[in-house]
Amino acid sequence: MYGLSGEDLAIQERARALADELIPFEVEAELNAGLLPEDVTGKHAARARELGLVAANMPAELGGGGCTALQQVLVQEQAGRVTNALGWVVATPPSWLPAVATPDQIERYVRPTVRGEREECYAITEEGAGSDVAAIEATARRDGDRYLLNGVKWHVTSFNTADYAFFQAKLDGGPHHGGHAMFLVDLPSPGVSVVRTPAYSHTIGHHHPIVEFRDVRVPAANLVGAEGDGMAFAYEWFRFERLMVAARCLGAAERLTAEMTAFARDRRVGGQPISEYGLVAGMLADSLTELFAARSLAYETARAIDRGADVKISHAQCSMAKLFCSEMAGRVADRAVQVFGGRGYMRENVAERFFRELRVERIWEGTSEIQRAIIARQMVKRGPGALA
Ligand SMILES: Cc1cc2nc3c(=O)[nH]c(=O)nc-3n(C[C@H](O)[C@H](O)[C@H](O)COP(=O)(O)OP(=O)(O)OC[C@H]3O[C@@H](n4cnc5c(N)ncnc54)[C@H](O)[C@@H]3O)c2cc1C
Repeated sequence: MYGLSGEDLAIQERARALADELIPFEVEAELNAGLLPEDVTGKHAARARELGLVAANMPAELGGGGCTALQQVLVQEQAGRVTNALGWVVATPPSWLPAVATPDQIERYVRPTVRGEREECYAITEEGAGSDVAAIEATARRDGDRYLLNGVKWHVTSFNTADYAFFQAKLDGGPHHGGHAMFLVDLPSPGVSVVRTPAYSHTIGHHHPIVEFRDVRVPAANLVGAEGDGMAFAYEWFRFERLMVAARCLGAAERLTAEMTAFARDRRVGGQPISEYGLVAGMLADSLTELFAARSLAYETARAIDRGADVKISHAQCSMAKLFCSEMAGRVADRAVQVFGGRGYMRENVAERFFRELRVERIWEGTSEIQRAIIARQMVKRGPGALA
């Protein structure tokens, strides 16, 4: 099905095997603030590397998997079958970085990240700038052979596990004054501190703290690309990550559909399996039908990238994939809770966990409203036929 090649099926199978190994650890993580013993986490990370699933999105000459976009979707889809972010061991380093990194940055950041020795986080969003990244107020001022960075960043995912951050700021002074720039900031660094670590709906070991950067000095060599390039990198990353969000939502919906079908077949109420009640059967049927449609959309979006589609078209198609897959997964999770009845409200139940965890897929990497705005803008500009 889906016209997958032998290579596609092989990597999908390896990713599925890893997901199946991680699933038994979900409840322990859920009941322990998302954390597993360090040796267990270490084993999971090693297993992901051994199966060739880490950095599948990075070029082979840098030690990555050199996978096609479709294969990356297949891998992340399987990672998405697992709750509590245990699937994040299948790391996807910043694939946009090698094209703009200096040889020094390749050695210090890209290669070690691909090897799994370093981990990045993104400090872009601010209290007053989320959907509207252009409104950030963080600043970067050139000071001799260094830059001085200032700003307070929100929701910095994985700050507690990362050892460097991408920090986006507006240039303060100089020929590109007011333009955006991106910097690599090693962690910890003097002047970088956690303001607070809020609790979020999901239970995962990765935190999303509010982080202050006060008079942080980084070498000019840590500027990514050129002054003024910052926004371009953010868009590049969004395009990739939106498709990966879509992929993980497919995995979540697949797992939920399988689990609710099995439950509906076995659970007897009033002397018959609940799957025989039309209202329950409808929830099963709608879920699989929507999953089929979402998967076809995401796979086709990936295939178009692999065929070298125009980047603007891909941008809109990745938005469509993220929009549809994340909203579909939310509906499937809601139905799954309903099918499980009271059990679906227990934290030990996969439907309950996904019901909370999937909510953010409609918010991060651009909200559903922002995706709709992107799609509509391209429809008006190029005509609907260019996109679908
Ligand atoms: C768990 C989590 C992890 C995150 N991780 C990171 C991270 O690692 N790094 C990082 O930089 N950021 C991160 N974010 C931030 C995330 O990308 C933003 O929350 C998101 O882009 C929305 O921005 P906002 O929260 O400021 O909402 P706002 O932009 O304030 O939006 C509020 C509401 O207004 C709507 N809205 C806004 N603009 C428009 C418009 N033009 N048209 C229609 N509706 C609009 C939105 O859709 C939304 O419904 C994370 C967020 C969460 C919740």
